[in-house]
Amino acid sequence: LGGSISRALQQMINATVVDEKVLNDCLNEISRALLQSDVQFSLVRDMQINVKKNVNLSDLAAGQNKRKIIQQAVFDQLCQMLQDPSGKPDQLVPKKGKKPGQVVMFVGLQGSGKTTTCTKYAYYHKNKGWKPALVCADTFRAGAFDQLKQNAAKAKVPFYGSYTETDPVKIAVEGVERFKNDQSNSFDLIIVDTSGRHKQEAALFEEMRQLSEAISPDLVVFVMDASIGQSAFHQAQAFKQSVAVGAVIVAKMDGHAKGGGTLSAVAATKSPVIFIGTGEHTDQLEAFDVKPFVRRLLGMGDLPGLANKIREAVLMDQHEDILENILQGGFTIRTMQVLFQTKLKLGTPSQLASMLPAECTSRLFPAGLGDDQENQSQMKQFLVMMDSMTAQELDSPNLKVSELRRQRIARGSGHEVRQVEELIEACKAVSKNFSKGRALLRSLNSGD
Ligand code: GDP
Ligand code: MG
Repeated sequence: LGGSISRALQQMINATVVDEKVLNDCLNEISRALLQSDVQFSLVRDMQINVKKNVNLSDLAAGQNKRKIIQQAVFDQLCQMLQDPSGKPDQLVPKKGKKPGQVVMFVGLQGSGKTTTCTKYAYYHKNKGWKPALVCADTFRAGAFDQLKQNAAKAKVPFYGSYTETDPVKIAVEGVERFKNDQSNSFDLIIVDTSGRHKQEAALFEEMRQLSEAISPDLVVFVMDASIGQSAFHQAQAFKQSVAVGAVIVAKMDGHAKGGGTLSAVAATKSPVIFIGTGEHTDQLEAFDVKPFVRRLLGMGDLPGLANKIREAVLMDQHEDILENILQGGFTIRTMQVLFQTKLKLGTPSQLASMLPAECTSRLFPAGLGDDQENQSQMKQFLVMMDSMTAQELDSPNLKVSELRRQRIARGSGHEVRQVEELIEACKAVSKNFSKGRALLRSLNSGD
């Protein structure tokens, strides 16, 4: 999805005259991509109609302005499609003081990330002053209780489950009752993890319906894997038809999937996305923020997000000027050096790459994002070569390194001249995209 949309945007950027035809071509391509991703036809049609309504070509001055306005309109429409379609955001998340022992039930297919996300959700709220507890109502998968137990213990959240009971409804009811009636602890957020199946099947949905009827949850959260794409609509719809899904969490947004299926899940459940999961660890849950999400969907990279991450990294207090450079669109070999050096703070190479514009990624990691180990060693080699560069070379605004120096750097770092050249070329490609991405961002953000 992201690829097609960014291709469509790119076409638009490259076109010298933006007229009705370009607008239509662009909208058609984006629509095809959205339809392929199982977004409801009516939503796609609304997007088209609204973009056309908002973009009155004849009223606009020629050239740059038109393009900016189309870009802005597409961006805004996608944001709107992801914004709370229920229009009732405060009924959503458990509300403090609303009533004691609110129950949140998690549903989703097996492997989507439910158990992990349950714990993250508990941990997140615990840090906000809630008293959460976890109930394992997954009796389908062997080891489900052990997994929840380990997660819960790590997050220091009380839990309930059974190794022997096979009726999920019974366990869920017992667990919820136990925590609700625990006078000494007064738990105010009871989170129920459920089972999934590999496929959508009647038995699963019947189980979810029974569970929901038995524990009357205040909120049902649908957890989806960021990479499910095309099956998102039907998957989400199937859950929505058996239980009252009220919110969506997209897990595994740290991979290279752009989460295009999210649009469909939102449409199918008529529920907002509340969080995204960005890693396997308990603290890797982020409140959903629509703008960076759509930027990433469009293949524009999350540059402000990346800058923030770098700001957080300790290294950065010595490199304020580089951060400034990134934000200004300037990019030197040293910028790349800092990016790589902070990679441990940033997470895996694929996490780093997911925040960069798509074209940069393929330049940096030509073998793809699948092999983090391979990519890490590639980054290390780049760093070794950079160590042999002079400050002048690292800080050169046009990334200039003379032929003679390339040979020296190769010899000094134990690499071939070809590899040094690859490094410089990669930096140049990233540099070009960084300023382009930056310019695009600036134009889209001008309404902020
Ligand atoms: P469940 O079957 O729906 O309960 O899914 P699990 O919680 O057991 O997760 C399935 C796999 O996905 C596990 O290996 C998790 O560690 C992994 N996982 C879950 N959420 C995330 C995430 O946000 N990022 C990454 N990288 N992995 C995740
Ligand atoms: Mg599970």
